[in-house]
This record gives sequence, structure tokens and C-alpha cells, in this order.
Amino acid sequence: MILRTDIFPKCPRDTIITCLLLLLIPTGYYFQLFVVIPAYHEIWSPAYYFHFILMNFLLFNVCTNLIGTVFVDTSIKGLLVTSKSKPGWRYCTECQSYAPPRSWHCKTCKICIRQRDHHCIFTSCCIGLENQRYYLVFVSYMFISELICAYYSIYYLKDYLIDDFSTSSILKFIFPVCSMFFEFNTKQLQLVFIKLIFTGMLGNGILLHFHIGLMFRNLLTYERNSKSKCDRGKLYNTKVALGERWYLVWIAPWIVSNTPSEAIYCDHFETTKDT
Ligand SMILES: [Zn+2]
Ligand SMILES: [Zn+2]
Repeated sequence: MILRTDIFPKCPRDTIITCLLLLLIPTGYYFQLFVVIPAYHEIWSPAYYFHFILMNFLLFNVCTNLIGTVFVDTSIKGLLVTSKSKPGWRYCTECQSYAPPRSWHCKTCKICIRQRDHHCIFTSCCIGLENQRYYLVFVSYMFISELICAYYSIYYLKDYLIDDFSTSSILKFIFPVCSMFFEFNTKQLQLVFIKLIFTGMLGNGILLHFHIGLMFRNLLTYERNSKSKCDRGKLYNTKVALGERWYLVWIAPWIVSNTPSEAIYCDHFETTKDT
């Protein structure tokens, strides 16, 4: 495994979205544990401890898998081949190197990425071979965190933020950002943040559903409309994405879980499915 040294975003779009994500993660953690949960469970009571441990486990896995996604180098840097091609490899004129099957040149990262799935604007890097596992765990735990926050936020909205159902409070609820220009207070700020949590949860849910669907069929994003040549059944395909010890990667990112060696690049497979 090679680690990236240049991890900084390569374009303004990536910079803005990555900074927003890095701001939202600790804010969400603080809001949930120190604002919402204490409204329902006395601080440091057994119920509060349960949420404290759960949220810390989620935060730990979100952060460490995000670090794994960003730092693991998925590019062809370590295997630059300029003199001769192997079967199935193609020549990339921009990298001036041969690149393995299923690799793709990223215009933002300016290099070919092994088993490239897509360029992620939230992490400012490409998702491909070796960092896909961290990315999928990161997205999954982000979604679970947002789901828990959204669940509690519904009660918090009802009990603390919306005190009456007058026209003005409904307008404040629908347009929280606009109403902040007229009346800026903590309530309005919390309302904006809760809406962000809901938006994030919906977006993340769609993203997770999309990527899990691809993972089960052993497809990359740009192959999504084609028939998979690498599909060996859901269990094997899961091992290709999350590694042989796919059931342990959910505990911590440093648990070793290697991709089955014969599955890398999927260039040995000739049929479409095992029978
Ligand atoms: Zn290239
Ligand atoms: Zn990229």
C-alpha cells in the first residue's frame, strides 16, 4: 500500500465541499451529544453514556476511514510501466504510461487511477483499488450517524424549536436561512443545522444505495450501464470491495483485509457469472 503525500484538494469546488464536510462532522457530533441528547437524557446518566459511546464509535470510524480514503494512493504511481504493455493494459498519453484494466484517467487528480470508481468531491480524491473499502465504511457510518441525528432531531424540532404552529413559525421552518436575516438567534441556527442533517442523510442514503448496488455486482461507476464481466456472486463481490475480512472492516480501519489477489483488475475473468 502506497500513501499519498499531496492530499490537498486540486480545485476550488473540492476545497469548498471538503471544508464544509470537515466543519459539519465535529459540529454534528457536538450538536447531537451536547445539545440534543441532554434535552432527553440527563448528562452522564446510563442512557446518556450509551449515546456517548455510540456517537464516539461512529465518529472514530467516520474520521479514521475518511483518513484512510484520502491517504491511500490508488493511482498507478507505484506501477508506472512505460516500455511494454501487459495483456489488457492500455497506454495513457497523459500519464505516458501503461495502465491496468479498469483504470481510468482522472482529470482532477491528473493521473490514472487503478480500478477507478469516481472522483469524490467530499474527500477531494479518487475512489479506486485499495481505498474503496475505507470509502464504503466511511459513507455507511456517515449515513448511520445522520440517521440517528435526524431521528432525535424530529423530537427536538417538535419539543424545543417549533413552539407553535403559527404562519410565522411555519415560514421560519420552511425558510430558516432567509428568516435568519430578520431574526438571528440560536433556534434559527439549530433549525438550519437540522435541515442540513436531513439533506445530508437523504443524499448519503442515495449515494450508499447506489454504491452498495454496484458493489454487489462488482461494477465501477462508469461501468454501471454495462453488464459486469467480474460478477462472481454477492459474497465474492463484497470481498473484492471490502477485502477477504469484509466482516471485520466495520470495527476499525487498521484491520487488514486484502482484496483477493486474482480479483485485482478482474482481467482473469472471461465469463460473466459463476453458475
Ligand atoms: Zn493517465
Ligand atoms: Zn480524481
